[in-house]
Amino acid sequence: MTSITPAQSQPAQTQTTPAFGPGNPFYAPSTLPFHAPPFDRIRDSDYQPAIEAGMAEQLREIRAIAGNPAPPTFENTLVAMEKTGALFQRATAAFDAVTGANTNPTLQKAEEALAPQLAAHSDAIYLDSRLFARVKTIYEERDSLHLDAESARLLEIVYEKFIHAGANLSDADKAKLKRLNEEESTLSNAFRNKLLAATRDAALVVADKSALAGLTDAQIDAAAQGAKARNAQGYVIPLQNTTQQPALASLSDRATREKLFENSWTRAERGGENDTRATVARLAQLRAEKAKLLGFPDYAAWKLENQMAKTPERALKFMDDLVPPATANALSEAKEIQEVIDAQHAGFELQPWDWNFYAEQVRKARYDLDESQVRPYFELNNVLENGVFYAATQLYGITFKERHDIPVYQPDVRVFEVFDADGKPLALFYCDYFKRDNKNGGAWMSEFVPQSKLLGTLPVVYNVANLPKPVAGQPALISFTDVITMFHEFGHALHGMFSNTEYPSLSGTSVARDFVEFPSQFNEHWAIYPAVFSHYAKHYKTGEPMPAELAAKIEKSRTFNQGYALTELLAAAELDMQWHTLPPGSPLEDVDAFEKQALEKKHVDLRDVPPRYRSSYFSHIFAGGYAAGYYAYLWSEMLDDDAYQWFVDHGGLTRANGERFRKMILSRGNTEDLAEMYKAWLGAEPSVDPMLKYRGLTQAAMPQ
Ligand SMILES: [Zn+2]
Repeated sequence: MTSITPAQSQPAQTQTTPAFGPGNPFYAPSTLPFHAPPFDRIRDSDYQPAIEAGMAEQLREIRAIAGNPAPPTFENTLVAMEKTGALFQRATAAFDAVTGANTNPTLQKAEEALAPQLAAHSDAIYLDSRLFARVKTIYEERDSLHLDAESARLLEIVYEKFIHAGANLSDADKAKLKRLNEEESTLSNAFRNKLLAATRDAALVVADKSALAGLTDAQIDAAAQGAKARNAQGYVIPLQNTTQQPALASLSDRATREKLFENSWTRAERGGENDTRATVARLAQLRAEKAKLLGFPDYAAWKLENQMAKTPERALKFMDDLVPPATANALSEAKEIQEVIDAQHAGFELQPWDWNFYAEQVRKARYDLDESQVRPYFELNNVLENGVFYAATQLYGITFKERHDIPVYQPDVRVFEVFDADGKPLALFYCDYFKRDNKNGGAWMSEFVPQSKLLGTLPVVYNVANLPKPVAGQPALISFTDVITMFHEFGHALHGMFSNTEYPSLSGTSVARDFVEFPSQFNEHWAIYPAVFSHYAKHYKTGEPMPAELAAKIEKSRTFNQGYALTELLAAAELDMQWHTLPPGSPLEDVDAFEKQALEKKHVDLRDVPPRYRSSYFSHIFAGGYAAGYYAYLWSEMLDDDAYQWFVDHGGLTRANGERFRKMILSRGNTEDLAEMYKAWLGAEPSVDPMLKYRGLTQAAMPQ
């Protein structure tokens, strides 16, 4: 990691935001190819003034539209709105990229200063009553306007966005909503901070090294370091977000496992200031009140209105149908694990803290898959060019050429120009794969420039991941999980790059949460498709293809433990939906009793399979954007497996199949109802059967 310049030593009050003017690289549109951000000229201090000026400029533009003396028309209101905020867009897109993938104290400070302004900026647009009055007038006249389909969709979406934000409420109710929103955001923030502290405090501390038997020397060293960092004696194993903890797969001392699990399960339920239960109960209650104010029976109904599933009933039915096959498989996996325990004469009954330890033994015995054997066949650049890019060329005819003349924000970032089948430029694709200490965890895709015919822009998209960086001169050998991550993020990239829409706000990945992971998860399937796999899975030294037995082990081991994996996800998703279908006026719930009852009611109360997140540490729904939306992960999985099955049934990896998918799904952004879009492509409603098949859960679903 490069050294970071220490923060300036001047007192805070003398620091003023530098004036925004022609010297700022965001002042004018980029003159680089595809309007790529001029990272060679952008300094850390340029972002904040550009974003602040961008917000001010967009508000001036919005006010001009709202105050236009001419009667409202689609052109002078909706189209005009789409054209606002050019400076804001180009500055925030670059800022989001560097704060996520290459941050430093200066950028973090700017982020902190901008956060409240950005929240207020969106409110200033969607609670502008003059602007809403114009949109509403146009919306009410929509049947006589003869709009084309995409324009009609834009009108509907913008109108709903205003309604969703509360634009249609009386002034008194608007004030009430604002208070509820403020309380919600304060409570979410409190939840996040309490949970952070609670998770840290609940780390497992052990005095004696023997309690850590089963961990590697490196893991034990890390635990000793962890203790030192906290001025504690002995060893510390910090907690991960989820209920199950990675170390539970290798800790051979059962008492240690139980202790670690208990710490995880009760992390935020220990009484005192970091107990999150009161916050959870009030959040659920106030969300129900908010829904009522906005005219919905419950929070989930409000949240799902603009999603593909549309109603909580639909999402619930989808989940409820998955429960029997998931739990039946989890129970047979539990039986198998109990047999291993009994065969070792261990003399106890399986508990959640034993699951991963014994499942790991079953996995090894059954598949004998050694990670170090497979890595030499997955050299990163080869996976990218002969796997990820190759699959896209086979399906869609696109080709790639690396460019070294486009400036990047960090030297590890690579840029490719993407050409369409007819040779025309299609997009720019950046990839930033290696882990850095100043990069957020996980992997993601985003855009510097969204595609829009109205604005005359072609897409500039990027992928970020956290793959291990090799030492200089060594190849980057990655795991199969990392390979899947690359295909996944590139699936999002294709959704952005193939976008062919008029309006920027409907373009690319600007789709509902329960649809956005569909193109990315769909693209993962090609990683294991034989014609693609054999094209990239080659030994980095010899170029030999991966031996068939090894490839078969990878393929087979993918369906291992899926009863457990699906059940823990379903339990969390059902729990989320129970909290968010509480009727308005409900009393404050007892969190533990409510949780227990919710899991029982949905038949996901398996003793050995606890939910992936418990209410008291379910930050997706109490501090993230996934309230009433955790089902979306599973919903997207249904779509991607179902779509892949269509490909398999129609000849697999062919240009014709790819072309049809691109035309009817990947290029369409959010320009039509997503359920209709999917149905038009498939010729039927999506089915969960392929999902069960690819998770290997079909057999137990059948009556014995
Ligand atoms: Zn994704």
